[in-house]
Amino acid sequence: MKVTFFNTKAYDKQFFTEANQAHGHQLEFLEVPLNENTCVLAKGATVVCVFVNDTVNAPVLRQLAENGTKLLALRCAGYNNVDLPEAAQLGVQVVRVPAYSPYAVAEHTVALILTLNRNTHRAYNRVREGNFALNGLMGFDLHGKTVGLIGLGKIGLVTARILKGFGCRVLGYDVQSCPEAEEIGLEVVSLDQVFAEADIVSLHCPLTPQTYHLINDASIAQMKKGVMLINTSRGGLIDTQAVIRGLKTEKIKYLGIDVYEEEGNLFFEDQSGKVIQDDVFMRLLSFNNVLITGHQAFFTSEALHGIAQVTLQNITDFEQGQTLVNEVKA
Ligand code: NAD
Repeated sequence: MKVTFFNTKAYDKQFFTEANQAHGHQLEFLEVPLNENTCVLAKGATVVCVFVNDTVNAPVLRQLAENGTKLLALRCAGYNNVDLPEAAQLGVQVVRVPAYSPYAVAEHTVALILTLNRNTHRAYNRVREGNFALNGLMGFDLHGKTVGLIGLGKIGLVTARILKGFGCRVLGYDVQSCPEAEEIGLEVVSLDQVFAEADIVSLHCPLTPQTYHLINDASIAQMKKGVMLINTSRGGLIDTQAVIRGLKTEKIKYLGIDVYEEEGNLFFEDQSGKVIQDDVFMRLLSFNNVLITGHQAFFTSEALHGIAQVTLQNITDFEQGQTLVNEVKA
């Protein structure tokens, strides 16, 4: 089956080519992102494969469907960038990779917490310059601190288990019940309680109309003074301007983000030779208590292997008329 990939990097080609030995699909790797201008490149491809920041809105879907695309295969878990009702109307089925390595994202979450707390990023630079002064590097014991997780799915629960290992009190909020909570020693509480009691708030829910700007002026006002805020989920969960206000008043003492609302224009590319035009992003970078990574939480070899395997299996199931177990519906 012909599959056109958008937005690919060398590592995508490597992992997908390896995994495809078991499937034998005809893979075409394009470096350009999918959008209104590039969708024509998928002409004749029954399957189009995209990533988190590709534009899959109604005009793009209409063009893809007109040009023969029947399946949109997301090589990621989130699907907030796809107009699902339009896809359904056009008869384009959508599949995703619901789980690959929750450990990859949970461990990156903890890496952000530890780096921000113990200032290892600043210590690394200081020591290389022969500066062994400790001023400004003081952290706090994670042991005994309260962490509030919003979203208790696969990643939230792995994060909870790791943080319990540090001796944290772990609170969690989800719109669904959490049968694993007792075994993990996780206290399921209200969203208000997470905001009021957590020393560290970490986001692990999807971006939906209900969770858009979940972190805003009102929710920040409910948080403890000096809170650490971590987002490895989706940028749109945070109202960035409100967070900047929180950082300026020092209500938020630490911010660690792997995702950013407007990341589509920045992330996954080398922008080092360019003038970055996003003033909000540049304001965030100006705080020394803000740590930003460029959507790399998923980026482990185990996760890439899993993504390639599940995506190609989704495509093979479609080709063979099997039930699409990872289908996403409107
Ligand atoms: P999951 O589907 O297993 O869990 C998500 C949980 O969020 C579910 O339990 C769901 O009930 C809950 N939820 C939904 N709406 C909610 C709300 N309004 N309030 C509180 N909880 C709510 O997903 P997962 O595999 O744990 O992934 C979580 C998120 O992580 C994904 O949606 C994705 O956006 C993000 N992610 C980021 C990366 C990265 O590289 N940074 C990689 C993978 C996933």
